[in-house]
Amino acid sequence: MPCHRLIATGAAYTPPVAISDDDLTRLGRCVELARTALDDGDEPFGSILVTADGRTLFEDRNRVSGGDATRHPEFAIARWAAENLTTPDRAEATVYTSGEHCAMCAAAHAWVGLGRIVYATSSAQLTEWLAEWGAPPPPVATLPITTVAPGTVVDGPAPGYADTMKSLYEARFRP
Ligand SMILES: [Zn+2]
Repeated sequence: MPCHRLIATGAAYTPPVAISDDDLTRLGRCVELARTALDDGDEPFGSILVTADGRTLFEDRNRVSGGDATRHPEFAIARWAAENLTTPDRAEATVYTSGEHCAMCAAAHAWVGLGRIVYATSSAQLTEWLAEWGAPPPPVATLPITTVAPGTVVDGPAPGYADTMKSLYEARFRP
């Protein structure tokens, strides 16, 4: 087929699907957990840990309302994995999360040797929305996961969850 016909269809230039339907379902669970956190007075972030064969082993959501600002779900997942999974199992596991890992959690993820990360919304999106609302930036630089943990496979954002997550963030962070 001549090249110009491929161009005309457009389809030939669609990038490979990095986020599958199964991934989207799991991100949906993370968004539910984020909503639960918000409803309980915490920040709207939720994350789950899934094995290579698709079983969810552990899930958590933000728990900072007690005064410990390090109680992020991705950090809890890293510590749980270090205590409960073998090194090979950690490497094959995937962490799904409603919002891209912060620098602390990306570092913990890499230090314990966890595998792929899939996130619904990026740190760049959150930074942009906080600025839009005139909210103060977080005390830790919002670096991409791949800057902190360059060996980690990362997929995201998932545009279908942007509006939902933006509204959860707005409820919590808009001054
Ligand atoms: Zn974090």
